[in-house]
Amino acid sequence: MIIDSHTHYAHARYDKEIPYLCPADGEYSIGRADRESLISEMRKSGITGFIEPSIGFDTIEKQLELVKSHENFMWSALGVHPTRCIHTSWKKRKKLLEYAKKYSVVAIGETGLDYHLTRREQRRFWQKIWFTYQIKLADKLKLPLVLHVRGADADALKILKRYKNRLHGGVVHCFGGNYECAKEYIALGFAIGIGGKLLAGDSEATELSDTVKKAPLYSLLLETDAPFVFPDIKGLKCGSNQRKKLCNSSLILPLVLQKIAFLRGEDKKTVEDIIYENTLRVFNLQGNESETRLRKK
Ligand SMILES: [Zn+2]
Repeated sequence: MIIDSHTHYAHARYDKEIPYLCPADGEYSIGRADRESLISEMRKSGITGFIEPSIGFDTIEKQLELVKSHENFMWSALGVHPTRCIHTSWKKRKKLLEYAKKYSVVAIGETGLDYHLTRREQRRFWQKIWFTYQIKLADKLKLPLVLHVRGADADALKILKRYKNRLHGGVVHCFGGNYECAKEYIALGFAIGIGGKLLAGDSEATELSDTVKKAPLYSLLLETDAPFVFPDIKGLKCGSNQRKKLCNSSLILPLVLQKIAFLRGEDKKTVEDIIYENTLRVFNLQGNESETRLRKK
């Protein structure tokens, strides 16, 4: 059983048919599907659900409404992404609590710090203000955090350590760093989100592979960040133009799982079962073969 711990299926790219990768028995073909047909394809392929963090206020309502038509298969996290919050009126922060009261949400996020823009564009002060606000909101609601940290681990860890007694776990999404860095997040109670980056090229020698080998299995989650972070898959036969249009989907997760098991030298089924249990624990879900649902508080 596989839950994708980080997706953006409410994204407008899925409003119409998009090309996506269908891996099957070591071969790849390219399918076309819109949001609903892709989600039913996921159900057929043994994906047991997905967790959808929000990015900004423009798509939050669409995302929260989408949960209603995919009950016990889709769960929402609620937050403002670090590159969006800097263009969002500070007054709007109160809307997050209103949404959290109205809808059922499993986490706060994605929130964190993103320093990939130019220093001037980053507006670090506002990123930190919004990040701190969302940490406090998660504490108020006793929810885990979905962290987005890019080029900013030192500052993010400094802020998280300041609030270490007010954290309720969560995940560092799309982790790409070394094991020393992962250990610091794990010590604060966070899991590490592993996605398509692990499939990139000859990735056995990367820092991320080293992290995957050394991290305790109870700290790993699977994710895609679909439609983003399309994996650089070896042996994929398609032109560069077609490749640019390909959208990521949860259907690649068995490949990520296989790579984790290979790197760790562990049985794939055992790795799958433990990561599934990790996902339930982090997001307060409960599940079995036929259904996964939110645990009653
Ligand atoms: Zn994301």
